[in-house]
Amino acid sequence: MSTEFDVVVIGAGPGGYVAAIRASQLGLKTAIIEREALGGICLNWGCIPTKALLKSGEIYEQLSHLGGYGLSVEKASFDFAKIIDRSRGVAKTMSSGIAFLMKKHKIEVVEGEAKLEKGSPSPKVVVALKAGGSRTIQAKSVILASGARAREIAAIGAVSDGDKIWTYRDALAPKTMPKSLVVIGSGAIGIEFASFYRALGAEVTVVEAVDRIMPVEDAEVSKAAQKAFEKRGITFRIGAKVTKVEKTKDGVSVAIEVGGKAETLTAAVCIVAVGIAPNTEGLDAIGLNMDRGHVVTGKHGETNVPGLYAIGDAAGPPWLAHKASHEGIHAAEHIAGYKTPAVNSPIPGCTYANPQVASVGMTEAAAKAAGIDVKAGRFPFRVNGKAVAAGEIEGFVKTVFDGKTGALIGAHMIGHEVTEMIQGFVTAITLEATEEDLHGIVYAHPTMSEAMHEAALDAYGRVLHI
Ligand SMILES: Cc1cc2nc3c(=O)[nH]c(=O)nc-3n(C[C@H](O)[C@H](O)[C@H](O)COP(=O)(O)OP(=O)(O)OC[C@H]3O[C@@H](n4cnc5c(N)ncnc54)[C@H](O)[C@@H]3O)c2cc1C
Repeated sequence: MSTEFDVVVIGAGPGGYVAAIRASQLGLKTAIIEREALGGICLNWGCIPTKALLKSGEIYEQLSHLGGYGLSVEKASFDFAKIIDRSRGVAKTMSSGIAFLMKKHKIEVVEGEAKLEKGSPSPKVVVALKAGGSRTIQAKSVILASGARAREIAAIGAVSDGDKIWTYRDALAPKTMPKSLVVIGSGAIGIEFASFYRALGAEVTVVEAVDRIMPVEDAEVSKAAQKAFEKRGITFRIGAKVTKVEKTKDGVSVAIEVGGKAETLTAAVCIVAVGIAPNTEGLDAIGLNMDRGHVVTGKHGETNVPGLYAIGDAAGPPWLAHKASHEGIHAAEHIAGYKTPAVNSPIPGCTYANPQVASVGMTEAAAKAAGIDVKAGRFPFRVNGKAVAAGEIEGFVKTVFDGKTGALIGAHMIGHEVTEMIQGFVTAITLEATEEDLHGIVYAHPTMSEAMHEAALDAYGRVLHI
C-alpha cells in the first residue's frame, strides 16, 4: 500500500470529508484518517441526530394541537427508546453514506488516531492504527480537521459522568427519559436539547450567564425566543452563574448565583452545554501557532507550518458544520493551486428548536455599534397567509440594511421552518443585494417567504400587509 499522498486529511467530519472529496475531484491523491466514525461530530453526535430527535419532539407536540386543525387522536404516547434508536439509526445511515463517498472518490480511509511530527514538505502523519500497529504517512499537504468535543468545567463539577451529568453525547443516547433537567447554556445546543426534552414532557430549566438567551442572536429574536419557549413551559434563569454541579442521591443539584444571591436548582439530570474544546492537543510540538486552543490560520486555511492547513472547529468559531465544509473546499482548492478568493462568505446560524431561529450577518445592535446608519424592517408571521393557513403564526422576520448603501447586512428570523428560509437572505448578502434588488424579487404566494419580502419593504416604509 502506498504511503505517499498529495493530501492527507486528519478527521472525517464535515470539514475533513468534504475537503478530501474536493481534493480528489481536483486530481490529488488523497487519504483521510479517522479515529472514531466517518462523518465526525456532525453526522454522528451533532447536527443530524439532534434533528432526528427534534422531529420526534415536534410531531409529539403537534399532537396536542390537533383539535385546532379539526383532528383528534385517541391517546398520544411515545416510546423513548424507539425515539433514541431512530436518531442513532439516522446517524448510522449518514455515516455509512460517507464511507460510500470515500470509495466513490477513491479516497483511502485510514482508521486510527493521527499525530503530527516535524516533516517536509509538510508534517509527517503518524497513525496509531485501530487494527493495531502504526503507519507513517508523508504527504505534500496535510489538512487538519480534527474538530472539537464538549467543553466541560472541572472546577465547578460540570463534567460528564455519563449518568446524571451529561454532555451532548450523553443527551443524544440516554437509557431512560429524564423527568427533569437543568441545561447549562442557552446557545444552539442547549436550546435544542431543552426544546426536545420539554416537548416530551420533562421539566426543563435553562441557566444562562449573560442577560439574555441565545446571546449571539439579534436582541429582538432573543426576547421573542424566550417568550416562545416559556409558553411551552421551559424556565429560564438569566444572568445566572453556575458555581457548582453535584450529583445527589436522586439526581443533580446545580448551585447558581443570580444578582449576588445564591440558589440551588435540582433535577434528575444536568446537561452541560457551555461550548466546545478543540481537539488540538500536542500540536504546539510542531511549532504550530495556536490561540486559546484553536489553530491560527490565514485566509485560505494555511498555518504557519509549511504544508499544513487547518479547517473547521479546530480552526476557530463559528463552530458550524457548513463553515467547516466551506473551509475544507477552500483549503483543497488552495492546495491545488486555485486562486479562489479568501474565505469571507457570510455564515448563517440556525437553531432547530420549536420555534426555530435563523440568522445571517449583523444584528441591529452590532451594525449600530459599527457606526452604520441602520434601516431595519420587520414582518410578523401572524399576518402571512401561508402561516395562518398552516397554523404557524409565531415569530417574525427582521432585516437590517446599511442605510447609506442600501446593502442588506443582516437578517434574523424566528418561526416555523425559518432555517429553510434563511438561505434566501444568505444568497442576497453573498451577492451584495441591495434593498432595490430585494424589493423587486417576486415571491411565490402563498409562502412564509413572503414575510422576507415584506420585512425588506418595511425597512424602507413600503410594507404592504400591515
Ligand atoms: C449536539 C450538537 C448539535 C450540532 N448541531 C449543528 C447544526 O445543526 N448545524 C451546524 O452547522 N453545526 C452543528 N453542530 C456543530 C457541528 O457538529 C460542528 O461544527 C462540526 O461537526 C465541525 O466539523 P469538523 O469537521 O470541524 O469537526 P468534527 O465534526 O468534530 O470532526 C472531526 C473528526 O476528527 C476526528 N479526529 C479528531 N482527532 C483525530 C486524530 N488525532 N486522528 C484521527 N481522527 C481524529 C474525530 O473523531 C472527528 O470524527 C452541532 C454540534 C453538536 C455537538
